[in-house]
Amino acid sequence: MCGIIGYIGHEQVAPILLQGLRRMEYRGYDSAGVAVCSPEKGLQVKKTKGRIQVLSDMIHGGADLEGTVGIGHTRWATHGEPSNINAHPHVSESGKFALVHNGIIENYMEIKEALQKKGVQFASDTDSEVVAQLLEYYYRDTGDMLEAVSQVLERIEGSYGFAILCGDCPDTMITARKDSPLILGYGDGFSFVASD
Ligand code: GLU
Repeated sequence: MCGIIGYIGHEQVAPILLQGLRRMEYRGYDSAGVAVCSPEKGLQVKKTKGRIQVLSDMIHGGADLEGTVGIGHTRWATHGEPSNINAHPHVSESGKFALVHNGIIENYMEIKEALQKKGVQFASDTDSEVVAQLLEYYYRDTGDMLEAVSQVLERIEGSYGFAILCGDCPDTMITARKDSPLILGYGDGFSFVASD
């Protein structure tokens, strides 16, 4: 099993995400990644095939990513080989949305084909990227992150834990789950989400 960690608060988030990912390392994984959001820098995404230490070295223990809101993921591939491109977080075409996903989107191919017919370019072979692209597609109509997530959840079938960031809403994270574990922790001025 793979893992999700998310944090929203006042501390620099990237080292916290790396620490959370390390705690879930025992579950097994083939790749790892993080996305950090800040008003100044927008969405910053780093991911790689291989160990969390490789990811940590890439971002100098988290020092390279500035921001206090972020999500992290360890992947156990179900759709698409273990690779840098198939690692999470997945990002929508314009870079507006980033998400991490545990689980399987059963009807991803039908949605992918429909979006491709509308000209959406996909970067990965995963079922998960479909959700990032669909979020952006719905968001274009409403400009409302929560509404876009609600519409996506109506459309997809399967099992999921999601943690979602949007560059337009740098102080917000939306999570959702179905048939896949995801727990929330509330502290004084911060919140966590984790799959374990
Ligand atoms: N189905 C997704 C993928 O293959 C998520 C796998 C996971 O839960 O790590 O990328």
